[in-house]
Amino acid sequence: MMKNYISILFVSVMGLCSSSLMGEELSKAKVPDLLPMVILGSGPAGLAAAQYSVRLGMPTTLFMGQTSGGLLTKTSFIDNYPGVMKVAGDIFMDTMIEQTRQAGVKILDETIVSVDLSQWPFMIGTEEGTMYRVLSLVIATGATPKMLNVPGEETHYGNGVSSCALCDGLFFKGKDVFVIGGGDSAVEEALQLAPHVKSVTCLVRSQQMRAAHSMQQKLQGYPTIKPPRYGVQVKSILGNNEGVTGIEILNIETNKTEVLDADGVFLAIGHHPNTDLFVGQLALSENGHILVEGRTQATSVPGVFAAGDVEDDLYRQAIVAAGRGAAAAIDAVSWLRKQGVTEDALKQLAS
Ligand code: NDP
Repeated sequence: MMKNYISILFVSVMGLCSSSLMGEELSKAKVPDLLPMVILGSGPAGLAAAQYSVRLGMPTTLFMGQTSGGLLTKTSFIDNYPGVMKVAGDIFMDTMIEQTRQAGVKILDETIVSVDLSQWPFMIGTEEGTMYRVLSLVIATGATPKMLNVPGEETHYGNGVSSCALCDGLFFKGKDVFVIGGGDSAVEEALQLAPHVKSVTCLVRSQQMRAAHSMQQKLQGYPTIKPPRYGVQVKSILGNNEGVTGIEILNIETNKTEVLDADGVFLAIGHHPNTDLFVGQLALSENGHILVEGRTQATSVPGVFAAGDVEDDLYRQAIVAAGRGAAAAIDAVSWLRKQGVTEDALKQLAS
């Protein structure tokens, strides 16, 4: 098997000069490295996958992507990760990155902009044009919450504006907050906020909620959940250094604006899974999440695994993402070993 593996590698490295890197692409490409295990993404899923992979004996390279540490770096505080006392989101992620580095993972502060999964070893390319051949890939590129793109939203993100009630709800004890959106996520956010806040109101753009009827009914069980406001659009989010103080809304029917006093704004207008690079290459769900097989993290392409919000549209929690990252690494290392990619084979190849 080992011989088999080495000969495949030899053929594939030689193949660089022919098939996939022709013409302009070839001239842009720098030295093509061969990487046994690559993790894309530096949120909890990617970092957990990297730590597990390296501890399982696989030389592991992690590409950070555009936001080092992922979405959690924009969360005010983490207070729901067992074993970790309340900590700022960015400090939590910095610690996880440092722990991953100390475990022996090679961390590259680069973003992968091209992926070719049609041949094995797979081919990935960075923004700078460096190409790598990859034996196994764990995709942990996360999901991006959709934003309203209104004034004040970005300024107060992490300080009054949030996309995660489960993460940040406790910081709004006794406060008046608003959830933007009328889908199932908006209802979930309102239900999670209800036990803590003084009041929570959904601001819905349409004249009706998109959420399932059964979900909407749940809203009626809490005195703190106020009736939704329909046909309203957020124009801006107001605030100061201490946080949010109000929301300016437009009544779409009357075209009148109004300012509502608010201490917090929770965005629930959907997420974009970061899967653009994999469209047409991996099986994706209707809403773009990577589909994984059964109770494993395996994708539709052997040797490619996915973990975290890029494949999980249900829980979207750091602790779940980290668990799935660990599972993806175990799956990936086990798959590599089945292909003959053992520590001995790698040493032999390097010598
Ligand atoms: P949805 O696409 O279902 O709903 C998005 C909501 O946001 C809609 O009310 C939409 O309004 C509103 N919206 C979108 N853009 C804007 C904007 N720019 N300004 C104001 N409002 C806006 O997204 P969800 O995240 O709620 O759900 C995604 C999927 O996940 C769904 O399939 C859902 O069923 C599922 N899900 C299931 C859960 C469960 O079963 N417990 C929990 C969470 C999600 P409009 O209607 O006017 O377009």
